[in-house]
Amino acid sequence: MEYSCQTYQLKCNECGRTFGNRPLSGCPECLAPLEVHYDLDLIQQQGRFTRAAIAAGPFNIWRYAALLPIPEGFEPDLPVGFTPLVRARNLGKRIGGDQLFLKNDSVCFPTLSFKDRVVSVALANAQKFGFETVGCSSTGNLANSVAAQAARLGLKACILIPADLEPAKILNTLVYGARLVRIDGNYDHVNRLCTLIADEYSYGFVNVNLRPYYAEGSKTQGYEIAEQLGWRLPDNVVCPMAGGSLIRKLRKAFNELIALGLVEDKPVRFFGAQATGCSPISHSVREGWDYIEPQRPNTIARSLAIGNPADGPAASKMIRATGGWAEDVSDVEVVSGIQELAETEGIFTETAGGVTTAVTARLYALGRIHRDQTTVVCITGNGLKTTDALAGRFDHLDARAVRPRLADFTEYLRELDGVLEPELVAAD
Ligand SMILES: *Cc1c(COP(=O)(O)O)cnc(C)c1O
Ligand SMILES: [Zn+2]
Repeated sequence: MEYSCQTYQLKCNECGRTFGNRPLSGCPECLAPLEVHYDLDLIQQQGRFTRAAIAAGPFNIWRYAALLPIPEGFEPDLPVGFTPLVRARNLGKRIGGDQLFLKNDSVCFPTLSFKDRVVSVALANAQKFGFETVGCSSTGNLANSVAAQAARLGLKACILIPADLEPAKILNTLVYGARLVRIDGNYDHVNRLCTLIADEYSYGFVNVNLRPYYAEGSKTQGYEIAEQLGWRLPDNVVCPMAGGSLIRKLRKAFNELIALGLVEDKPVRFFGAQATGCSPISHSVREGWDYIEPQRPNTIARSLAIGNPADGPAASKMIRATGGWAEDVSDVEVVSGIQELAETEGIFTETAGGVTTAVTARLYALGRIHRDQTTVVCITGNGLKTTDALAGRFDHLDARAVRPRLADFTEYLRELDGVLEPELVAAD
């Protein structure tokens, strides 16, 4: 259950101790989270991470494999990532941004969220470590992705979720044949239980004992943003936060690109988005704390509902260090955000994307983000998984069926537009 590698290994950010490569999430000495540390000089000497080397790679996250913890001999198989970066002119017009882009991970392969990135890197390591059963504690999207990718790799999956998760996210886990356990509690209860199970049963939990490897997968979203902007960094990034991992890893990705000379050095401000019903990180940012105060989640944005986020304190510090900010929005604003993105850009995102869209609008309104700055908004999940959030918004769902005749269609259009002709009203 251990392997060595020339270019990377686990390292404690607090005390600097290194641990090689093994399933371990925290430093046994100081209990701080471990992170994968690379020998950037060696990688530069090897010439494996240059614009040309990347351009010659496949159109998926494996084009960046030289800066991912991928064990030697692992043959990447799934074309994960390389999702569209789209210019959002219509949304920009509405909320006040001239250089607004959407990184659209709602169409990530294979399970329609950014979690496919982290899971593919974690499972490469799970196989190398020899785990027969993998799993996770999940707020939904992670469950879907672990179940799907484990099926493909022929690994058994055991997945734990809070009992009240959206039905679509439960179905999207079970369909792959995964063992799913609903826990009577919130995500933080589930996560604590997984820590105990991982030791007792020798399971590879992607976001528990494989967490340092898992988290590195998020960097690929940052590499893609820079490459898709023409090897340029944006001025601002707006990112949803659950455990606070993605937002930190985007920064790590940008810093690595600068260190290896792939992009010009420039300051990038990071903006975090949460739902008010679970906002420990945005609260910490606004208070200027270096810690977070855990909350009991109560929001429709279930994929972001982590009340005690593992990377919360680090994310809060990082956001403020970059000159960024964080905001949180109500559930009503989340639903409006989903609709606004769909109506302006034709992208149907889940509740987390509603959070991010609504927070972005607020950041422009507050003047935290300026109209002419290049701003990338991370849309991380797909609306088809959280349709219950829109229940009751569209009375059309039970509108009457129209007879297949032109006259009936015309009459129906009038009804919809509310212009009933007098004689039709009289005839009723
Ligand atoms: C997990 C998740 C996030 C945030 O992830 P963290 O890295 O834990 O902050 C954002 N959006 C969606 C849709 C997610 O599923
Ligand atoms: Zn340590």
